[in-house]
Amino acid sequence: MPDFLTEEQSELRQQAESLAQQISEMEMDSSDPKKIQLQIREKSKAAGIFHLTQPIEYGGLGGTAIELTIARESLAIKNVGHLPGIFGPSPGLLSKASKEMKQKFLDPFLAGEIESGFGFTEPSDAQRHTWAKPEGEELVINGAKSYVTGGSNADFINTLVEVEDMGPAMILIETSRPGVELKTAFSSVDGSHHASFTFSNVRVPKSHVIGEAGTGMTRALEQVNSVRMAIAANCIGLNQFVCDLVADTLKSAKTEPNPNHETRVKFGRMRTHAFAARSSVYRTARLIEAGENCVNEIMASKILASESIAELTDIAIQVVGGEALIESHPLASIFRRVRATRLAEGPTDTLHANISRGCLDLNLGRI
Ligand SMILES: Cc1cc2nc3c(=O)[nH]c(=O)nc-3n(C[C@H](O)[C@H](O)[C@H](O)COP(=O)(O)OP(=O)(O)OC[C@H]3O[C@@H](n4cnc5c(N)ncnc54)[C@H](O)[C@@H]3O)c2cc1C
Repeated sequence: MPDFLTEEQSELRQQAESLAQQISEMEMDSSDPKKIQLQIREKSKAAGIFHLTQPIEYGGLGGTAIELTIARESLAIKNVGHLPGIFGPSPGLLSKASKEMKQKFLDPFLAGEIESGFGFTEPSDAQRHTWAKPEGEELVINGAKSYVTGGSNADFINTLVEVEDMGPAMILIETSRPGVELKTAFSSVDGSHHASFTFSNVRVPKSHVIGEAGTGMTRALEQVNSVRMAIAANCIGLNQFVCDLVADTLKSAKTEPNPNHETRVKFGRMRTHAFAARSSVYRTARLIEAGENCVNEIMASKILASESIAELTDIAIQVVGGEALIESHPLASIFRRVRATRLAEGPTDTLHANISRGCLDLNLGRI
């Protein structure tokens, strides 16, 4: 078996493949997205996939890095991995919150009763990073966050804030607090929804700091790393979907020679890039599972996976022709969705620069 999967991991792959098949055969009534989401959720629970993203102590399956990679890749190979409802909400940063905070926010969040956002990116013209001043038992927060996915529906935002004399901290801020203002709500080409917020003298209790003040950047990066791996796993599955689609198109074409040499070279290039990205993502998942520090490998995997799917989709559209740009064609939808992956959770250039920094300035990391 080329992926060297254990028996349990092979079984998980079959479960995810079967779920992907079921979802791809569903009749989707686009006028009722909530109903589709609920139907997918039920199928995913029955297939043993939904709870993979939730820790065992919350009744989940506590999926490992490899298990999550297998599940996400298998779903993306059928081009359904992006649909809402497949994976349960995961505690993310809140797993590091105090017992009281978990009761108040994490339990209803995992039950689907309240929603959250992640506040990291700031407006490019910000004069100062979002900051907080301690006052007695409270923190007074000022600043802005510019790109909070799901922000319009969020009940709270886990926000990176510079606390004076203490350093960066992740702070839970309810969107209903006085001084929190939703400035703009917008959507991006991939179809996801976001909002920008300002914070003007927002007061929160000090207990809203998640973990210790000063560890905010580390906490935020833990969250970012797991999302980077999720993006990478989804992209390598999509690479396979796109390669399969092009292979089917080429095999069924009636032109002679079929395909011509130039197209064969293009297709070989697609498959080579898909192979490189996939190898990197699985290797990184194994390193995470072995408990290694692999921040560089995660960045490299996210770069290889997101850049390869962007390139493969572009080539595939060129090979298939104008039909691929019709809105209902899967390549048109993938083209829109994958563009965001080269920016979200760290743009490719920034990640490349960080990988250089590890080697040149810090003498750290294996790559
Ligand atoms: C679909 C989507 C969802 C998102 N969701 C969230 C969210 O929930 N929460 C959140 O906080 N943010 C979110 N973001 C924002 C995302 O994290 C930022 O867009 C991304 O980090 C880039 O930041 P920026 O847009 O400010 O661009 P900049 O950081 O200004 O980058 C612009 C350009 O400059 C280059 N650049 C910048 N710094 C460096 C460097 N040090 N070295 C080399 N090149 C550099 C970049 O590569 C890029 O080409 C989301 C973005 C997208 C597209």
